[in-house]
Amino acid sequence: MDYTSSPGLAPPTAFGGSGEAGAAAIADPDGVVVVADDGRILYANGAAESLFLRGPGGLAGCLFGHPVVGGDSTEIEVFRPDRRKMTVEMRCTPIEWEGRAAHLVTLRSGQERRRVRESLHKSSELLHALVAYSPMAIVAADGAGRVTLWNRAAAAILGWRDLDVLGNPLPATSDDPLESPAGMWRLALAGEAVIGRELMSQHRNDGTEVALQCWAAQMDGSRGLPGSVVLMLADVTQRHRVEAHIRRLVGHDGLTGLPNRRQFRKQVERTIGKLQGRDRPHLLVLQLGLDRFKIVNKSIGHGAGDHLLLAVARRLAGVLYETDLIARTGGDEFSILLRDTHHLRDGVRVANRLLQHMTEPFELDGQEVFVTASIGIAVYPNDGARAEDLIHAADNAMDRAKQQGGNACQFNTLDLDSDARHQLMVESGLRHAIERDELFLEYQPQYELGSGRLVGVEALLRWRHPVMGVVPPARFIPIAESCGLIAPIGSWVLQTACRQLRAWDDAGLPPLRMAVNVSARQFFADDFKAEVKQVLRSSGIPPERLELELTESLLVRGAAGAIEVLRSLHGLGVRLSIDDFGTGYSGLSYLVDLPMDTLKIDQSFVRRLEQSHSYGAIVTAIGELAHGLDLRVIAEGVETEAQLDFLRRTYCDEVQGYLLSRPLAPDGVARLLA
Ligand code: C2E
Ligand code: MG
Ligand code: MG
Repeated sequence: MDYTSSPGLAPPTAFGGSGEAGAAAIADPDGVVVVADDGRILYANGAAESLFLRGPGGLAGCLFGHPVVGGDSTEIEVFRPDRRKMTVEMRCTPIEWEGRAAHLVTLRSGQERRRVRESLHKSSELLHALVAYSPMAIVAADGAGRVTLWNRAAAAILGWRDLDVLGNPLPATSDDPLESPAGMWRLALAGEAVIGRELMSQHRNDGTEVALQCWAAQMDGSRGLPGSVVLMLADVTQRHRVEAHIRRLVGHDGLTGLPNRRQFRKQVERTIGKLQGRDRPHLLVLQLGLDRFKIVNKSIGHGAGDHLLLAVARRLAGVLYETDLIARTGGDEFSILLRDTHHLRDGVRVANRLLQHMTEPFELDGQEVFVTASIGIAVYPNDGARAEDLIHAADNAMDRAKQQGGNACQFNTLDLDSDARHQLMVESGLRHAIERDELFLEYQPQYELGSGRLVGVEALLRWRHPVMGVVPPARFIPIAESCGLIAPIGSWVLQTACRQLRAWDDAGLPPLRMAVNVSARQFFADDFKAEVKQVLRSSGIPPERLELELTESLLVRGAAGAIEVLRSLHGLGVRLSIDDFGTGYSGLSYLVDLPMDTLKIDQSFVRRLEQSHSYGAIVTAIGELAHGLDLRVIAEGVETEAQLDFLRRTYCDEVQGYLLSRPLAPDGVARLLA
């Protein structure tokens, strides 16, 4: 069809040449005309007018001169007023125009089509080049996590080639699936923005480590790619190395922010410098290493392992005083400088406090992780005059502690004063006493003075140490108290004593009362009442047959708080006894307020009964007072007939002592009862 043959198509007026027409076409690429059913043009846009070299309004009213049919685009050839033939792509859509049926016709010149195609081609080439040559790894994965795009940088950074990964799930690059590209894919899919997130300790295909920085976003779902995620990954290993190096130069550990080994050594050196010239210089270096950390790290993943180290560092720092210095001196090792320690025992005490705090589980992402530590202690100047020597000595001692099973501390020095050595042996030994079955109980009979009947026993704790032999409680209970081990030991005593009482009952022996000593730490623990309740329930012992012995000093020291605990224990029906009465320097008036049942006169008074009359007077007065308060009185440490005779003449209800019986093994008690 030929436009030029149609009436009304005049030469251009407003637009001079095709160059300008081309410029207009770029601004508004498609020519649009509205053609009536009779073939007349009702409307034409600027692009259409330019296409036919007409001025504004120059096409309206002209015959379109070509059949207009809806449907796919067709190509038509037109001759323009300048006699040039041109191929035009035409697409028609039926519409209503000012109340009448008409066709909307879009016209695109071949030149324009070429331009669009070329421009598309160019931008796709550009995109391709951007993706291909990007120094960043660009990876796309579909909604199921399968890789759909994997550029050269991804192959270079992570080691897998595109052939290895395309169509497969994102490769596992970390022990911690959350802290990996796959984890970021999941976040982006859930609609979270992942912007520059650092992914440490990722492994490449060949197993070497790489640190990544990751950006991830979900792609626009409207393009038919629902759930597709694009990840961009930068290799930041080098930057991390440099940063770590700078931190090392500055003297700090990157992960925990604590001083590093170099800085620690400097500080030790400085402290040693200040000590010169003092008569008794003492400075301790503790080296603490986590036991079996490699295994823990493997099982929880490197990312979580880092969090664990950070939590350990915080906890350790929280235990120390401000004057102490803690540094991270190895992957899983910390060094501690204790200044101003005048006694080795202080070192042991700090070490045990640190070990004790480590036994509490660490919570990482809702998961409980248990770790223990080993500590080596070096002493200045015994183990070395230079910082490096001290650190080395502490390291050696730590290794020995590890070799012995961990969760312990060791001195490097062998010629420790016996005090410190004893404390150390006791503390590290006690830590394993229960599990190694080294604890046992003896039971000392208590007799009714009037009838001579055996009415109860007191459970007394013993420890059979593999080297030290049987250790008396006075030598280890205060230590267990000071390092917090009394809680598990006290629980063990309570359970074992009640179980024993039940065993005697089951054997058909006459019912006895069981007295159990309770230490202050145990008594004031939050869950003590619950523990007593539980033990009573599990052993089936009637509460009134369990007597808890509390020392007078505990009651005086604890004052108001103690009364509350006593009342709640009393509410359970168990009996309460004041042990070692007379040694706590208490005013007697405080007794009135306490819900006690028994008062135990301390053996120091009983022992001196024969020495002086005044002790007799004290014991008599205590007896009278107790009876006035409705308390049962028991005298302990009765060793002679004379003491027993004296006690018979006072208000004394029961007696206990070597004269009547030494503490016995369970079958010894059974024989007595039978
Ligand atoms: P305690 O509760 O006053 O126990 C009485 C102590 O006197 C026991 O010493 C007992 O063996 C001793 N004894 C008894 N009769 C005589 C006697 O006629 N002469 C002499 N010289 N001593 C006598 P043991 O067993 O060495 O206990 C010492 C302390 O250790 C106890 O004093 C108690 O405070 C504490 N203890 C013992 N077992 C435990 C326990 O399971 N838990 C707690 N927290 N402390 C305990
Ligand atoms: Mg006692
Ligand atoms: Mg006592």
